[in-house]
Amino acid sequence: PHSAFRKLVVANWKMHGSLAFNQALVEGYLQGLQALPQTDVVVCVPYPYLAQMQSLLSGSRVAWGAQNLAKYEQGAYTGEVSADMLRDFGVQYVIIGHSERSTAYCESDENIAEKFMMAKRHGLTPILCVGETLLEREAGVMERVVGKQLETIIRLFGGGAFTEAIISYEPIWAIGTGLAATAEQAVSMHQFIRDTVASADQAAAATLKILYGGSVNPQNAVQLLNQKEIDGALVGRCSLDVEQFIKICQAS
Ligand code: PGA
Repeated sequence: PHSAFRKLVVANWKMHGSLAFNQALVEGYLQGLQALPQTDVVVCVPYPYLAQMQSLLSGSRVAWGAQNLAKYEQGAYTGEVSADMLRDFGVQYVIIGHSERSTAYCESDENIAEKFMMAKRHGLTPILCVGETLLEREAGVMERVVGKQLETIIRLFGGGAFTEAIISYEPIWAIGTGLAATAEQAVSMHQFIRDTVASADQAAAATLKILYGGSVNPQNAVQLLNQKEIDGALVGRCSLDVEQFIKICQAS
């Protein structure tokens, strides 16, 4: 059933943007997407710009999301942002466990699992990032690493947690390096991810979307997005340029 999903392209702006830049960019997205009715698009922006997205994108076909959330409901957690706060700004999606965060701020798999469930409990769709380092791939243990990331959630919350969730396979060596995974490497890991979830909960696995992220550009998007195992892409750098982003959406 997963090959029947509409392709989903998620823009991850990371720590880029300004009010003026963002407005021009999303207006460009909306215009370019008019000719592409078959693709779903989500834009994940820095927290301060969620209100801007709510005002520019409400009622449009582009949904918006955040790049992180707190694992707590509320309280004395300086600098954190809760799921309810995101809901206040019309957020439907949230990236969880991106390697740029888990590496820089030492997020454990357990911490990421708690954030994943916090998003689910509040009706947000988590976009869970999983992936291995170059050393891990060279050592041939990439499935073990990704498997452990998934098993942590399965162990704590059960396979049903993946119902209508999104996983983005993001090999760390491919993020921001210009060196994307090959379609074969991605397909093989996507199959592993779906099988791992299916062995915990078959029904949940059938509703799970699996994206690829890491140096997606208009050229490699054609190959990657035409695999039935790849339900879409998470796009960093190329999401900051209207023309390149629309070309990636077109490739889907
Ligand atoms: P990139 O970022 O497209 O710039 O490699 C992708 C990501 O962070 O997932």
